[in-house]
Parts: sequence; structure tokens; C-alpha cells
Amino acid sequence: MRIVLLGPPGAGKGTQAVRLAKHFQCPHVSTGDIFRANVVEGTRLGLTAKEYMDRGDLVPDEVVIAMVMDRLAAPDCEPGFLLDGFPRTVTQAEALDRRLAGMETPLHSVLCFEVEEDELFRRLAGRSAELGRSDDGEETIRHRLEVYATKTRPLVDYYMHRGLLGLVNALGHVEDITARILEVLRVAAYSRNGGGSNHNGVGGASRRPANPAPRAAR
Ligand code: ADP
Repeated sequence: MRIVLLGPPGAGKGTQAVRLAKHFQCPHVSTGDIFRANVVEGTRLGLTAKEYMDRGDLVPDEVVIAMVMDRLAAPDCEPGFLLDGFPRTVTQAEALDRRLAGMETPLHSVLCFEVEEDELFRRLAGRSAELGRSDDGEETIRHRLEVYATKTRPLVDYYMHRGLLGLVNALGHVEDITARILEVLRVAAYSRNGGGSNHNGVGGASRRPANPAPRAAR
């Protein structure tokens, strides 16, 4: 499976990615985790990334793209991967498309996690108290949500037009959300294989053009 997890900060992508990676036995590639590990190790990449992360800004595209392309070239990603936190801009999405097209290994699905902004803010502020992440201060949280709205949300349309988008209601118990995701993926696989109508806003990119009205799996 080649899957992208899309959604605002605090939507629970990381939590679900760990569960899904176990389910599908594929690597969980989290750009946030890779950056944080590099910060801890004090690498040059970590030093560059920290400056942006602490402000709640995106790390420049060229830096992230090079890092992810490198990671995807590792043998463990050959059978599939779960991308968490990438792409976050249209430029990143285009780079990923080019890379996968070159290898004739298109994405299977892009799962978009939906959570209201008030709830996101509550979750991120709670995580700040719990984990003390340096980018979880109140002002930085607001900024990250703004950056999501302007830079990353356009990817919802980007992937919807490619027939790849599956919306996931990301409110509720962790296990229930995993079950919803697996259902969205099941429907996507069915429609990719030429199955019936496309109930969840997910479809095969090559055969189905735009899907105008995706609905969340409840
Ligand atoms: P969140 O919990 O906010 O979803 P992540 O843990 O995925 O955040 O990422 C933390 C930070 O790492 C981001 O705020 C950003 O500065 C940087 N980052 C992660 N992924 C990307 C990316 N694809 N493009 C640019 N910056 C990124």
C-alpha cells in the first residue's frame, strides 16, 4: 500500500499511522519524526529544520523533498509506505507524483483527517502541556493551523481531482477511527479494481477523473 495521510496538526495522523503501519506491515515515514530525530542528533538537517519548526513554519520544500525522496529509495519502502506529514505543499505533492510516476508505482489513497479547528487547538494545547514540544506554544499552534489552511489544505482539492481522496472523520476513539480508515481503503480498492459506485470519495486516479463530492466515512 502506498498511502498519504493528510490533515491538520493535531488530527491524529501520527497515532493512526503507527497502527496502520503495523496492520499493513509497511514503514511509517513521518517527516516530523525524522526532523525531530535529526534535531536530537544535532545534524545539519536538524539545525536547519529546527529554526522553521520552532516558529511553526514549514521547512523549505527543497530540504523536505530531498529528505523524503532519499527515504523512499530505501529498500523497505519498495512494497509500500505510509507517508505522514508529506506532502504539505503543492510543490511537494508534484515532486512525489513525479517520483512515483517514474517508478510506475502510483499512490493508492490519500486519507484526509477531518477535525474542527477548536478541537485541534484543544488537542495541541493539551499535547504541549504533556510533551513540552517546542512548537506547541499557543501562538505557534495558531500559526501552524494558519500555515495548514494556506499551504496544505489546497492538497485536498489536488488529490480529490485525481480521485485519490478519502475523507476520514477523525473524532472519536482511536480504534473506531482505524476501523473507518480501513473501510475507506477497502472501498477505494474496490473502486480501483473496477467495482461499483464510489461511496467514499475515493477512486482509482487513472480511470476516474474528478470526484466532486467526497463524503466522510462515519
Ligand atoms: P504536526 O504534529 O504539526 O502535524 P509534524 O510532527 O508532522 O507536525 O511536523 C512538525 C514540523 O516539522 C512542522 O510544523 C514543520 O515545521 C516540519 N515539517 C514536517 N513535515 C514537513 C513538510 N512536509 N514540509 C515542511 N515542513 C515539514
